[in-house]
Amino acid sequence: AKDRGLGLIEVFDDAASSRSLDRLGLRSDLLGALEGDQFAVHYQPICDLGSGQVVAFEALLRWTHPQRGPVPPDVFIPLAEETGAIVPIGHWVLEQSCRELARWGAMGAKRIRVNVNLSPVQLQQPHLARELLDIVQRSGVDPGDVCLEVTEHSYLREDVTESAAVLRTAGLHFALDDFGTSYSSLNYLKWFPIDLLKVDQSFVGGVAASDTDRGIVRAVLAIADSLRLGVVAEGVETEEQRAALLALGCPLGQGNLLSPPLTPDAAAELLAGDRHS
Ligand code: C2E
Ligand code: CA
Ligand code: CA
Ligand code: CA
Repeated sequence: AKDRGLGLIEVFDDAASSRSLDRLGLRSDLLGALEGDQFAVHYQPICDLGSGQVVAFEALLRWTHPQRGPVPPDVFIPLAEETGAIVPIGHWVLEQSCRELARWGAMGAKRIRVNVNLSPVQLQQPHLARELLDIVQRSGVDPGDVCLEVTEHSYLREDVTESAAVLRTAGLHFALDDFGTSYSSLNYLKWFPIDLLKVDQSFVGGVAASDTDRGIVRAVLAIADSLRLGVVAEGVETEEQRAALLALGCPLGQGNLLSPPLTPDAAAELLAGDRHS
């Protein structure tokens, strides 16, 4: 195991050597992907679990490699973080997301939010707050309709809370992603301006069948309630999970049962339909 700094660990061994070569190829291809128009942003609905109404969309980046076809974000996001390419790429995702949000507003759709993932590497950039605010302000959307999703990392400390505070003061919201999967989750709530918890899909998966998972989800809901935070259950895949979440009092969900991530046009179509129903 080789420490790449920033707490990012890369493992090299013989069995993985061809995969490592693959990753090296992908890493350099990633640099041209933005100019090459190979990225797209898809939008997954976050819905009221009771009524099914869409309240927000999460922006999820898609990369279609010219030779290899679709590459999963779990593969290319870590590479983009290692090279720093995640900084311009992340700016681009926010720009696209704000553009779509403005378009949904212009359609006369009901007011919704857009959630955009923010890499911990982005959070360490000195001028992050200014740059993100420029993008949001240029787009003309209400900053209060933009939510940045962050994950806990031990190397993120007080230095980043300053950018977060600036963004929060400007009206942007923050969600704590994959909540419950990291040892520092609770500690994070003390010094990062979080508005929303996203219950990790590893707990949601067992919410109907496992007493442990149900107990954990119940505890997350209690934390959210006492800190006055919103909650979204991630990875809702079955009707049983939806019913169990509703019974526990979880208001919002995201997952393939409700809708997979959609192309921008399909997202707009869904909103147009929602308006007439
Ligand atoms: P995430 O932020 O936790 O996003 C949720 C992931 O769960 C997405 O995977 C989504 O497609 C998937 N998902 C949604 N519903 C279901 C379901 O019912 N069942 C299951 N099993 N999965 C579901 P995706 O799109 O492959 O993205 C993976 C991760 O890549 C994201 O996890 C996020 O950490 C990262 N990512 C994606 N787009 C961006 C981006 O623009 N910027 C950054 N920094 N990271 C991104
Ligand atoms: Ca997310
Ligand atoms: Ca998540
Ligand atoms: Ca995740």
